[in-house]
Parts: sequence; structure tokens; C-alpha cells
Amino acid sequence: MVECRKLAKGEKAVKRLFLLSVFAVAGFCAAAAPAGAQTFVDVGDSHRAKMEINYLATGQIVNGSLDGHFYPDKQVTRAEAAAMIGRTLQFNGKQVSTDFSDVGIQNFASGYIQEAARHSIITGYKDGSFKPDQPVARGEMAIMISRAFGYGASTINSAAKALMDKGIAQGVADGTFGTTNSIKRSDFSVFLARSINSELRLNGSMPEFTQTDTVNADSLNMRSGPSTLYDVKSAIPFKGEVKIGYKVGKWAFIQYDGKTGFVHTDFLASSVGGSSSQIAGKTIVIDPGHGGTDPGASGYGLLEKTVTQDTALRVQNYFKQTPFNILLTQEKDPVGYKTELSDRVAFARNHNADIFVSIHCNSFNGTADGTETYYYAAYQNPHVDESKALATYVQKRMLDALDLKDRGIDNGDFHVIRENTMPAILTELAFIDNKSDNAKLASSYWRQEAAKAIYLGILDYYYNYKKIDDVLPLYNLLQAQPSTKWY
Ligand SMILES: [Zn+2]
Repeated sequence: MVECRKLAKGEKAVKRLFLLSVFAVAGFCAAAAPAGAQTFVDVGDSHRAKMEINYLATGQIVNGSLDGHFYPDKQVTRAEAAAMIGRTLQFNGKQVSTDFSDVGIQNFASGYIQEAARHSIITGYKDGSFKPDQPVARGEMAIMISRAFGYGASTINSAAKALMDKGIAQGVADGTFGTTNSIKRSDFSVFLARSINSELRLNGSMPEFTQTDTVNADSLNMRSGPSTLYDVKSAIPFKGEVKIGYKVGKWAFIQYDGKTGFVHTDFLASSVGGSSSQIAGKTIVIDPGHGGTDPGASGYGLLEKTVTQDTALRVQNYFKQTPFNILLTQEKDPVGYKTELSDRVAFARNHNADIFVSIHCNSFNGTADGTETYYYAAYQNPHVDESKALATYVQKRMLDALDLKDRGIDNGDFHVIRENTMPAILTELAFIDNKSDNAKLASSYWRQEAAKAIYLGILDYYYNYKKIDDVLPLYNLLQAQPSTKWY
């Protein structure tokens, strides 16, 4: 899939980008010639980890030196572990500046380290460092694998037990798991290969194939590993029913017709919409505050309802170019009536909104100024943490865009965020009765900037907090990058 992303790169029309990447998967990548099993000069036929190392090498999950050495007896470092796990899950490995004081963009694994940290697979240290060159201990490895493959183990002991139960690892000679022992590159490869492919596990330990899905491509290749670099074992016809054991990134280890192997989940019926599956059809409701017979606050001849409706439409225009379903509680300023607060909430609920963003302008007595965003922190809305995260990201983007005073995010008791049942926020762009704030609200240039900020803040929420990688191409619309800090 890495090749496919490259094909699609540079496309600015986002909708087309998604289509292109789906075609690219079906066409170019499927046709890519599988690489033969790689061999290293220092991993000979009799090496105990030969099979697992070559399995990973086929998928370019591990690689050796230019002169063909693998160095199987070298200790695996945290940076190497992050890279191997990142390649397994097909993270974007492009080198980036990271949030860690000791991992710069020049570190070969910086992209994988940043992504692994974002997915909470490998975390840094309290002092802000990552210690990329520190050897990985067995207990640490168990936690990393447990998190990468979703075993739900939160302690070293439970992670070690999960690995032993699944036939991925055994205890050491003294009968313990040897949690503090360091690991060689060869052993890490063995554990990782077994985690990826059940067929390599001890005692033929197979997962339970509990989930059923159907193929929605004309013919879907079942491969020996989770990438197009692996050999095709067989092809599954349209509507073929597969049983899923577990997922490895966007690939699933499945059982079909008595055989096991890997298929790409974009081509299963449960992920309608191809590579945009995680966001396609997710509904975002934008709520322009006030309107009709309720003008809201005012200042210097400007009505709050005019600002909120116009800004909401600008936000909508951005999201119309994405796979999200974008809805406004009122498409235009209603004439002769007003949209009740309870109707705004009912609208979001009836449309099964994923998030709700209400846009307002503040007013006080002319002296207060700045931007602030509210969320509701009480039991009626069960999404307090998500609401707070959404508020955090939108507020940050608004400050960057409007360059007004930071009044922060706060818990606010407003009907539309109190009574809603999805993550919900209310943002106050600026003070309409403050002269300098008002000048920005009155300007279509600044309302466009505010709309961009709301768009990017929402993307940041999905990307950083909900960890939905599919939103990444949507930043291209504004030639922007995800915010690096996360809530
Ligand atoms: Zn208002």
C-alpha cells in the first residue's frame, strides 16, 4: 500500500484522491511482482530463526546492511523495534521531526517512532526523551506487540501471558518470562513473525475465527503476509464469505475454504467506501448559532447570526470535498422564525451525528476580547473526554488562525452541548461588541480563516485523538499538516 500512496500523492482534489487510491490498489499494486524470500549472508540455512527472518524480509519489515548482513545477534533497539512494528502495520515511515527531545528528523526511524507513539504502541519517558538506541527488554517487547496487535494487555505480566497463550513466545530457562532480559534482532524477528502470522506460531496455535465478512471485489487475493509483497495463495471470488481471526493494520488474517492467509480489509463488505472506510458517511453537524427572529448578539452594525451562518457555510464547503457527511442545523438564515435549541439537538441525534460543533460570537460590554471554546463536562453527555479533545484542537487552530486572545477551553452549560449525546462543542469565535474583534468578524477574509481553523481542528481531533489515519489526505485541501500535539 505504500506504493499506492505514492501514486496518489500530490493530488489536490481530495475526492478523486480516494478514488484513485482504490483503483491503484486494485490495479497497480495487485500486479506488483512479489519479491522472492530474501537471504542474508549471516542467516544461513541452519540458523534457527531463518524462516521468520526471511518471512519479515519478504515484506520489507526487516532489512539488512548494504553488504547483505542481518546481524541476528545484535540487540534490538527501541528505534529498530518501532520501525519493524511500524512497517508491519504499514505506518507512513517518512522521517519527521518528533515530539521527543532525542529523536530528530535525521533518525532513520523518526516517522515510525512518532506514529508508534501516536498509536500508544511505544511511549516515551517522563523527561520527554525516547531513548531510541536503548536495547529492548523482553517485557517491553511483550507490551509493544500486545498493543500493536490489540491483545488488550496493559501490564508486562498480562502481555507476557498473552504472548505465551498465543504461541508467540515461551518462558526462559528459569521458568519466568525473563522480562528484563534484552532481545537479539533474531529473537525479536521470531516474535514479530509469529504475531503477524499464526501459521508460524508454536504448536500450530490458531486464533478463533469469530467474525464473518464477505468479499466485495471481483476477485480478492489471499496472500501469505500482510502486504502486496507477499505471494498470492489463492483468490477469493466476489461475495465469498471469509472468517476473520485478527487484523494486522489494514490487513486481516482470514480463513476461507480451509486455507488461511491475509486479505486487505478495504475489499471486505464491512468497509464500504474503500480506503476512506473509517470516515465515509460519518456525519458532522455544524450548528450556526441563532438566526431568523433571533439575531443573537450584535456590535458595530454586525449581527451574530450573520457571522455564524456565513462561517458555518464556509466550514461546510470544506467538508463537502471530503468523504464526511456534513450537515448544518440550518442551511440558511431562517426568515420569520428561529431554530429552537432543542430542534438543533434533535437534528444532530436524528442524523446520528458523530460530532456536533456550534458556532457563536461572544459579547460582554465592549471591553472583553478573544476566542474561547466550550464543551460540557457532566454525565448527560457521555463523551466528555472526546468533547474536551475536540474543543482543545478547534481552539488551538482558531488561535493560530485569528490571532486573538486565548480565553482557553472551558466547561460550559449550554443547551446544545449539554443535551447532546455525541461529542459536542460550542466555539465563540470572537467578541462581536469589541471593536478590534468585531473588525475580524466583519471581514470575509477572517471568517474564511475561522472556517479553515474549524475544519483543521476537526481533522486534528479525528487524526490525533480518534487515531483515524484516513483523514491525513484531507489536510492537503489546505496544504496543512496535522497538529503535532495531541490531547
Ligand atoms: Zn450566541
